Amino acid sequence: MVSSEKLRKIVGKDWVITKREQIENYLVDETALAVRPKPADNVIVVKPGSSQEISAIMKLANIEKTPVFIRGGGTGLCGGAIPTIDGIVMSMERLDKIEELDEENLMIVAEAGVTLESMLKVVDSTRLFFPPHPGDEGAQLGGLVACNAGGARAIKYGVLRNYVRGLEVVLPTGDIISVGGKLLKNNQGLDLMHLLISSEGILGVITKVILRLYPRPVSSATLLISYETRCKTMDSVAKILQSGVIPLAIEYVDRDLIETTARYLNMKWPMTTGQAYLIVILTGANDDEVYLQGEQVSDICEKYNAVDILVAERREEQAEILKIRSEIYSAMKDKTADILDITVPPASVGVIMDKIDEIAGRFSTTIPVYGHAGDGNLHPHLLDDLQDRGLVRQVKREIYREAIILGGVITGEHGVGVVRIPELDLCPDRKAWDLMRGIKHVFDPNNILNPGVGLL
Ligand SMILES: Cc1cc2nc3c(=O)[nH]c(=O)nc-3n(C[C@H](O)[C@H](O)[C@H](O)COP(=O)(O)OP(=O)(O)OC[C@H]3O[C@@H](n4cnc5c(N)ncnc54)[C@H](O)[C@@H]3O)c2cc1C
Repeated sequence: MVSSEKLRKIVGKDWVITKREQIENYLVDETALAVRPKPADNVIVVKPGSSQEISAIMKLANIEKTPVFIRGGGTGLCGGAIPTIDGIVMSMERLDKIEELDEENLMIVAEAGVTLESMLKVVDSTRLFFPPHPGDEGAQLGGLVACNAGGARAIKYGVLRNYVRGLEVVLPTGDIISVGGKLLKNNQGLDLMHLLISSEGILGVITKVILRLYPRPVSSATLLISYETRCKTMDSVAKILQSGVIPLAIEYVDRDLIETTARYLNMKWPMTTGQAYLIVILTGANDDEVYLQGEQVSDICEKYNAVDILVAERREEQAEILKIRSEIYSAMKDKTADILDITVPPASVGVIMDKIDEIAGRFSTTIPVYGHAGDGNLHPHLLDDLQDRGLVRQVKREIYREAIILGGVITGEHGVGVVRIPELDLCPDRKAWDLMRGIKHVFDPNNILNPGVGLL
């Protein structure tokens, strides 16, 4: 194990912490308590201030074969940032500078430890727009890229991967590479950048990111649409997607969940009819365009089972709806044994919802669901009654099996982390996993970066 003295020589004495009581916050993330991995006993937290310092740490860790766990904002939901073996937690918090907002090229260049919140403050003060909105703005840009985060607003512009144009990365061996740039096209060699995106920190430490921005849409509206049952919402989703209207978001929420969250936030959910809701966010270059889209979406929803439709046009009203939607996990956290993030083909969302209900019935529980319906990505919440009865894993695997039968995956957003590794046996393509392990070995021959994360 690398000594704290050697680390202090690299980053300075103030940036190495060894006292357990001072590092507790670095040993957890937002993973539900019931499934959260147990942190190791001997952990040193180090806070480098530059890529060069990170490179020196990685070189030292390689010589002394010490595991290094990268920590971003700690908002991950599958234990990826938790040090499960004795070693170093490398916190990225000091790499917090936005280097350039390039309005000419519609791009932003920032260090990886900048939080989404800080970046949005800067971008929102201009005429530019960063569309993705994963629910916790405490996430760092490096963590968002490493997890290829999605969130509510992915339908129109895609997930994080669609925004990343360039990366600076410190490899596990300590070499520093740059991939991509302020470019919209790049076919030079194998695409290492896209390999590093969603690698959950097992291939390198992301230290700098170049992200694409868009002109801010001038006009937007949020439609709340209520239905009597979950699966009745899904015909509307399919028809909206087929109609040519491309919403910024189509979110699904159970009534109980959203009302619980509104109460938790001391806010009021603005709709009282129905048991299941769609939230459709529309954007456009002017009010007329958004109005027309709104008419089209309303017509479709009325035709396909909607009980009621509410249109929010004021900015504050729309922000309140997004706020309540974004805080569901925080409101449910104490009651949640595990939050899943299965993805199925978008047209199969209604089928998987019925399967989830069927599984809930068989295990005499309720499984609240919300998620990104337009992306086929749902978050079933397994509640603590399943934990009390020792059934969390069994129910989880039943849901995973149904998603896989439909051509889906067990994780569409949060990643494998540590928590999903025991379930990878359900994901059938052995050769693909062998290749991934081979790639990991090429990048990290001594397996010192995020060992035990993302791969069997
Ligand atoms: C309330 C809430 C809502 C959420 N909503 C969404 C959502 O809608 N969509 C979604 O996709 N996710 C969502 N998440 C999950 C989480 O915010 C994302 O996974 C996010 O990308 C994690 O970023 P982080 O900086 O907090 O990373 P951490 O939790 O610190 O780390 C996550 C993983 O990334 C690695 N990592 C972190 N920084 C780097 C780096 N610089 N270089 C290389 N690897 C790194 C870590 O080692 C770890 O494996 C939500 C979480 C919460 C708590």
